[in-house]
Amino acid sequence: MLDWSISLFRIRGIALTIHVSFFFLIGYAAWTGWNTGESGSWPGVAWSVGYVILVFMCVVLHELGHAFVARSYGVQVPRILLLPVGGMAEFDRIPRNPGQEIAIALAGPIVNALLVLALAACVPWPTITALTDFELSAKSLLQHLLVLNLAMGCFNLVPVFPMDGGRVLRAILARRTSYVRATQCAAATGKLLSAFAIILAFAGMFITHLWAEGVLMVLLFSFIFWAGEAEYRHVKSEEHDAHYWRRRFAAQAVSRERPPTSPTPS
Ligand SMILES: [Zn+2]
Repeated sequence: MLDWSISLFRIRGIALTIHVSFFFLIGYAAWTGWNTGESGSWPGVAWSVGYVILVFMCVVLHELGHAFVARSYGVQVPRILLLPVGGMAEFDRIPRNPGQEIAIALAGPIVNALLVLALAACVPWPTITALTDFELSAKSLLQHLLVLNLAMGCFNLVPVFPMDGGRVLRAILARRTSYVRATQCAAATGKLLSAFAIILAFAGMFITHLWAEGVLMVLLFSFIFWAGEAEYRHVKSEEHDAHYWRRRFAAQAVSRERPPTSPTPS
């Protein structure tokens, strides 16, 4: 499913790809834009689609933050994948050094913080009314982006593994216990919070009747739940393999050191 993606272009050697389901999001944005204000509003379509594209440009910048810091530690980053629920930078390996993992994880939210500061320098800080009863202007677009970056940065810091905050949690735990145990604890915390968020999203959908947003939230947390479990299983199988080879090499070393007990036939 994750391979149903289209390559767009490369940014300093990193392929930027979008999943085909992303086009449904653009279609939904165009539809909601058309129904904004007076029915059949082309400025509404332009505002809404433009907003979604700018949001995903911010997502790309967030992922590039992770990618460039990871590269400085020698990690290869072949591509950044954009899904309707967010972005994902693919690494050839995750550094097991807690300090490096924390630096890589925090780089994304730091990019959002810098974008908030840059946008706050361009437009006044939005009020609740400015966000709900907004006109289709560039100013309101930038104000929405400012709030979006603030929310994206804070949301990613929630300790739900394998999101950024969950990775920071794993790295902190890995200083005190084994890497596998730290991953297991971080993944368990992440799955518990994801399950809670899925229940809240379902409840919210029936209370607010915001069906599309609710479905997107359920998909997002189901994806995080699955990704946390998948990464834990991967770390566990890596550790199992490493343990197996350590035992094999140790057994061979012992047999080489032991003198032969019977003469070998010539
Ligand atoms: Zn991130």
